[in-house]
Amino acid sequence: MTDTAVIDGAGTAADAVYDMVVLGGGSGGYAAALRGAQLGLRVALVEADKVGGTCLHRGCVPTKAILHSAETAEAIRHAGVVGLRATLEGVDMPAIQEYKNSVVARMYKGLQGLVSARGIDVISGWGRLVAADTVEVGGRRYRGRNVILASGSYSKTMGQEISGPVLTSEQALELDHVPASAVILGGGVIGVEFASAWASLGTRVTIIEALPHLVPNEDEAISKQLERAFRKRRIDFRTGTRFESVERSDGGVQVRTADGAVIDAEVLLIAVGRGPATANLGLEEVGVSMDRGFVLADPYGRTNVPGVWAVGDIVPGVQLAHRGFAQGIAVAERIAGLSPEPVDDVKVPKVTFCEPEIASVGLSEARAAELHGAENIVTSQFNVAGNAKSQILGTQGFVKLVSLKDGPILGFHAIGTRMGEQIGEGQLIVSWEADANDVAALVHAHPTQNEAIGEAAMALAGKPLHNHG
Ligand SMILES: Cc1cc2nc3c(=O)[nH]c(=O)nc-3n(C[C@H](O)[C@H](O)[C@H](O)COP(=O)(O)OP(=O)(O)OC[C@H]3O[C@@H](n4cnc5c(N)ncnc54)[C@H](O)[C@@H]3O)c2cc1C
Repeated sequence: MTDTAVIDGAGTAADAVYDMVVLGGGSGGYAAALRGAQLGLRVALVEADKVGGTCLHRGCVPTKAILHSAETAEAIRHAGVVGLRATLEGVDMPAIQEYKNSVVARMYKGLQGLVSARGIDVISGWGRLVAADTVEVGGRRYRGRNVILASGSYSKTMGQEISGPVLTSEQALELDHVPASAVILGGGVIGVEFASAWASLGTRVTIIEALPHLVPNEDEAISKQLERAFRKRRIDFRTGTRFESVERSDGGVQVRTADGAVIDAEVLLIAVGRGPATANLGLEEVGVSMDRGFVLADPYGRTNVPGVWAVGDIVPGVQLAHRGFAQGIAVAERIAGLSPEPVDDVKVPKVTFCEPEIASVGLSEARAAELHGAENIVTSQFNVAGNAKSQILGTQGFVKLVSLKDGPILGFHAIGTRMGEQIGEGQLIVSWEADANDVAALVHAHPTQNEAIGEAAMALAGKPLHNHG
């Protein structure tokens, strides 16, 4: 770093300059920083906590580690089904924490090494935009020809105090024991992932969801299949039910719903979505257009203020790490003078890692009908009862394709054990606008769950193999 890039106090330093000052080192911010540095840009990355952000330290990675422990517990419980004698002697939560933390620590070390190897200046501390081209951290000013806002999101709490038995995902991830019982407020992605993990580890779970279905952003057929699976797993859920209040009791919490029900549990996990972390960043003062705390950016990441860009969870749309990565990369490339494609939220793949897993990309049947008219939409659903690998794994579920009549496939939806791994082909189908014949012509390896996609496409092309129809 040359000293012209850092301006003390209210210094003027007209020639100071990073090409990019990135505010926030989570998925969106660090991806922008890494790609920018790779393209030869001078980059400063301002991070108040730890590079890696929510995803690495409090989100994707730790939750999936705990879900893997939960999946292993289920495998041991059901070992008899595949002819193995094994008993689950117990769950050692401190040891699960150690395993989870070790995965996070390894990834964190790797990321720090990468950031350092690319010559990025990491500025530790809380940053604030004090001018369109200047971020202030601890009284020092860092100027950039471009500033990328990437401050991420926080768990919404519905006005509840987070302490003791009332948790958000952050506290839930750090528990040193498995709660005997839990009420989970919110049946979206984070809610159903915790419900799934805790139920496998021995918690009695009740989910409260105000909307009519669990995972309400998915195709309705997926929601219904997940609900069937959760019923079978004895995960209680109350959809179309509004939360009213929570009181702390001796044993934990007493949760009331608007329909008069009272549920006692050891903990309440509030998982009702994430808000943009944009308060007190100076954005309004600099004139950045916002809507309810979210930063408005065009599909290229540009805000209304020239030279100020925004990526990740602070931009309205799907809040996923890989969307942030993609936006960060695209913004860095634009700054470097390349012409990347804008990131299209509809084509962002989504995986929910509950058991059974959910994978989807593109339009749901309802949304496709809304956009194109129901009479122009056809669907094909292949039940994995006819898929050998799924039967080996003992899972139920399906692959559903939503297509324009005689046109491209617009939506891919799958549910079943390990189905998350099928998202890759789903994404290619939807992004490359393949039609039923394109996919039906591909040979899918046997016996894999991947064949279920080929089967759904063959049925859509009018030549089902292992499907009735
Ligand atoms: C429990 C949970 C599970 C999840 N699971 C998945 C998953 O499986 N897959 C998936 O794709 N996504 C998942 N997500 C979502 C994913 O974590 C987010 O979409 C992603 O982290 C967003 O990246 P971001 O860069 O926008 O923000 P963040 O990752 O939130 O990073 C923002 C960073 O900015 C820093 N910061 C904020 N303000 C300032 C400031 N003023 N000065 C300096 N630094 C600042 C913060 O410290 C933070 O490090 C999960 C989230 C949660 C909570």
